[in-house]
Amino acid sequence: MLIFRQLFDPQSSTYTYLLADSSSSEAVLIDSVFEQERRDIALLKELKLTLKYVLDTHCHADHVTAAWLLKQQTGSEIVTSGNGGVENADVLIRHGEKIKFGKRYLSVRETPGHTNGCLTYVLDDESMAFTGDCLLIRGCGRTDFQQGEAKKLYQSVHTQIFTLPDDALLYPAHDYRGLTVTSVAEEKKYNPRLGGKLSEDDFEGYMRNLNLPHPRYLDIALPANLKSGRPDKNVSHENNWAPLNYSFAGIPEIEPQNLEEILQQVQIIDVREQDEYDGPLGRVPGARLIQLDTLNDRIDEIDQSLPVVTICRAGGRSAQAATMLQKAGFNNVASLTGGMLRWRSEGHPVVGNID
Ligand code: FE
Repeated sequence: MLIFRQLFDPQSSTYTYLLADSSSSEAVLIDSVFEQERRDIALLKELKLTLKYVLDTHCHADHVTAAWLLKQQTGSEIVTSGNGGVENADVLIRHGEKIKFGKRYLSVRETPGHTNGCLTYVLDDESMAFTGDCLLIRGCGRTDFQQGEAKKLYQSVHTQIFTLPDDALLYPAHDYRGLTVTSVAEEKKYNPRLGGKLSEDDFEGYMRNLNLPHPRYLDIALPANLKSGRPDKNVSHENNWAPLNYSFAGIPEIEPQNLEEILQQVQIIDVREQDEYDGPLGRVPGARLIQLDTLNDRIDEIDQSLPVVTICRAGGRSAQAATMLQKAGFNNVASLTGGMLRWRSEGHPVVGNID
């Protein structure tokens, strides 16, 4: 079975696509975003997938790829066009080649015009294609910089994308209105630049008169993407106070074992009810009771200069408490994974009226 997820980065309006083959658990990511690396890793972990390749449809000008970061974290390989002049890639691909993950594959179609190195990835059964910025929903990528050329883009769309089956679903790299997917038939008919009876000359005229502003992020994104998103300085994911996990829901979490090792150095806030705090599950030594309902009003009682670990029965309320503390400006916060139930079952120290 194919596993498919469409992910969104609100900052750059970029769609990242996760595709995986459930029988082998091998996955690929298309158009990852640097700032979303943590999110993507968390999803891969929760779905128990192995990231095989990180693909980019082209050298982006509006966000930095997470290709290099993901490779460091997962051992995945970086795949990019042989025409884009991108460094640090493991696989340079060309038109007609295949990218395999488990029993499935994507085939590569070169679709230059927005940039020279633009690729469209087509799923093996041609039911979906990932068009990058070549074809957007009722639009297309600009052609006025990065070796852009309107005539090339027109040809790419008409010979490589509009030749797919009419019902093939098309997934772009961006949408600025919240649209998520289109189809070949729809774009052939309704794309105001490239559809209907519009000729190559019509398209060129349209693109010449777009008068778009210089992209804001170009000067940062382009040089970074030419290195596959490898940062100049090493980025460290280690918090200096504890090793944390980040769930796909975005919650920083700490494992019981790791908390036990630093019990004396952190503030422990137990957000359960009074009767639970005094009850048979007991509490973590040093845990202070601030019930979740009262946390916002009592937030000033917590020292912002020390790390905080929130605790509840099973890890739900403490996750919410961690989020509340982050919103209030606490940087070093984590929720205890699995709460008191897991803490107890793993035999970590407890105090109180324990059974
Ligand atoms: Fe682009």
